[in-house]
Amino acid sequence: MTDYAHIQEWMEKTRFWLMEEKSPGSPAEAEILRDVLRFHEYQYYHLDRALITDPEYDRLYKMLEAWEKANPGSVTPDSPTQRVGKSLNTQFATVTHLVPMLSLDNSYNASDLYDWDRKAKELAGNSMIEYCIEPKYDGASISIIYENDVLVRSATRGDGVQGDDITVNSRQIRNLPLRAPFSRYGIQSIEIRGEVVMTKKAFEGFNLQLMENGQPPLANPRNAAAGTLRMKDPAEVGRRKLEAFLYHVSYVSQISNTQIPNSNSQIPNSKNILKEDSTEAPLEFGVSNFGISKIPTTHSGMLQMLWDCGFRSPVHEMKVSAGIEGVIDHCNLYEAKRDDLPYEIDGMVVKVNNLDQQDQLGMTTHHPRWAIAYKFKARQGTSRLRGVEFQVGRTGAVTPVAKIDPVGIGGVTVGSISIHNEDYIKEKDLKLGDTVVVERAGDVIPQIVRSVAELRTGTEKEIVFPQTCPVCQSALYKEADEAVWRCINVECEAQVVERIIHFVSKDALDIRSFGEQQVRRFYELGLLKDIPGIYKLDFDRISTLEGFGKKSVENLRLAIEQSKTQPLHRIIYGLGIRHVGETTAKMLAQRITHLLDLKALTVDQLMQLEDIGPKVASSIYGFFQNIKNIQMLAELENLGLTLRRAEQTTVEGGKLEGQTFLFTGTLSKLKRSDAEAMAEKAGGKILSGVSSKLNYLIVGEDAGSKLEKAKKIPTIRILTEEEYLNLLAYDN
Ligand code: AMP
Ligand code: ZN
Repeated sequence: MTDYAHIQEWMEKTRFWLMEEKSPGSPAEAEILRDVLRFHEYQYYHLDRALITDPEYDRLYKMLEAWEKANPGSVTPDSPTQRVGKSLNTQFATVTHLVPMLSLDNSYNASDLYDWDRKAKELAGNSMIEYCIEPKYDGASISIIYENDVLVRSATRGDGVQGDDITVNSRQIRNLPLRAPFSRYGIQSIEIRGEVVMTKKAFEGFNLQLMENGQPPLANPRNAAAGTLRMKDPAEVGRRKLEAFLYHVSYVSQISNTQIPNSNSQIPNSKNILKEDSTEAPLEFGVSNFGISKIPTTHSGMLQMLWDCGFRSPVHEMKVSAGIEGVIDHCNLYEAKRDDLPYEIDGMVVKVNNLDQQDQLGMTTHHPRWAIAYKFKARQGTSRLRGVEFQVGRTGAVTPVAKIDPVGIGGVTVGSISIHNEDYIKEKDLKLGDTVVVERAGDVIPQIVRSVAELRTGTEKEIVFPQTCPVCQSALYKEADEAVWRCINVECEAQVVERIIHFVSKDALDIRSFGEQQVRRFYELGLLKDIPGIYKLDFDRISTLEGFGKKSVENLRLAIEQSKTQPLHRIIYGLGIRHVGETTAKMLAQRITHLLDLKALTVDQLMQLEDIGPKVASSIYGFFQNIKNIQMLAELENLGLTLRRAEQTTVEGGKLEGQTFLFTGTLSKLKRSDAEAMAEKAGGKILSGVSSKLNYLIVGEDAGSKLEKAKKIPTIRILTEEEYLNLLAYDN
């Protein structure tokens, strides 16, 4: 069957279920519905294409879920609804791998690879060797067993012989199929190996969140992936978006029950488990290679089999090469493009491709002789920790920044590195004068991995955290549940400057041509001392400054003038009240008619508002109880800023009139604020949280808890950005 016909057949089934608003009539029908869902999961997670919309997928999913709820006896463990498991309150069980997980021998340059090639040929009786080269994923290794096509167990590597049973967590890895058609190859049970990784993007988001919660970030995606796999809460594992890459088959048994473990090379002896081609293969949700039922006899063939069964194996990244020169080329190619990959790799793995030859080469007690890792140049370097500077941010947070002897790491020179907070310094055991290991993972900001205590001479000094603000000298405070020390003097110069920078920034008052540099310069020259000062700038003096021509002064004056009519929520956000981000600012702006109305609200009253907890409420309360802040706002109003909410700009008669909207995740085409403005222009209203009042949730990439919440309210329509644009086009 061609791909096309195959897809058509599944789409027909899909449409059948989408049309029939009924639930499955029997367990057999439920299984068909499951297959439809599996087909779309495969399209989405494996082939990166969506053949139906998210809401349509959700409808199918809910249909199945409802039926399974009514028929609990007929729920199968491989059902697409069964990814979510219960939290664990005990230790992970220890399990024994069917075949030990070995490590790999290492090589670092071309000459190492030439040596290895020579030895391998000798061991293979001087015959030709074909190699398969693939990325060495930098994550946490995992071993997974499928029996009768169903995922039954996954384990961490542990000590190589035994690991932790993390099956519940592995089910949260969305590109790992819960069911895979190995039976097409005559396989009854199979143990496969791979690496669980967190993509660079997911890692960045994850670290940002850690830092927002006052926790130290992790040094690299590898640690993040390994830590996540061993979490007790599977739902949290799901949120962290791990991905699995599979690159090895370590054990296979045939359907006829003759088990063929292969303790020698970790690879099944393929001769014993060959099966004849079957003529008619069952309809599977995979697309290609129907009718294949031979277990491959090469490593690259195994990778293809894994891919065809729905796994992310390196078929597109691998290269099969008959000579070692081709191996070296491929290693160099990937070393050059490692920064462009969405995930971290720390080298390549070269494997003898023919499985019989692998057997022939065998293994030592530590590693197979038929494979070798080619390690890329380290992204780590060592340096000396010379000093620590303490920087004061907008909210008064004092951040220690390590000054190290400049060191080149993967093409970038690193001289200062944030070391976050006092707890972090303790945890990493950092001392002045220490030799430190510095790591840069891809584009991720550099981190100090550890200090090398072995190299201490006794002259190293403790890093003393200041008790007073390094800028204004007032005493520092720390809240009980936080790791961050803060200067709470609102007039602290460092904070004042940072606050002005924030006020003029893009998402706040958006004063173009007024950047961080200008704010600092004007402040140092005494031209600007606080936020109202922006509207009292002496342009005559500014025009005498170097770099300020007539035109640029006029541009600046215009931009400042225009900012006076910015909507209220931008001003609220621009004030930089702790814990008040853009969303909260918008919500607040909708609840008041004048900014100073907030002065009258108590903490309790604030907490009545959507999405406001005690922390946010007391921060807002504190801000508006401070007389200096009130004076500043009054002055801003006198200077011409609008602190009054503009009349609701709903467009009467617009087709979206009375409809409510909310956005979550990152949109790919539109800026969030523009997308919101478009809805408002068509008469729609933006809500600040998910509730039954919401009509539409528009979901971008990396959507979070709002989506989860919205899925539970059947009246909310969930749209992709595309669908949202269609809705607008249709309505205007
Ligand atoms: P090492 O820990 O440096 O000895 O390297 C061995 C580890 O590399 C294995 O245990 C795997 O977890 C990991 N690895 C990553 N990618 C691959 C790959 N393509 N083939 C084999 N091992 C890999
Ligand atoms: Zn200060």
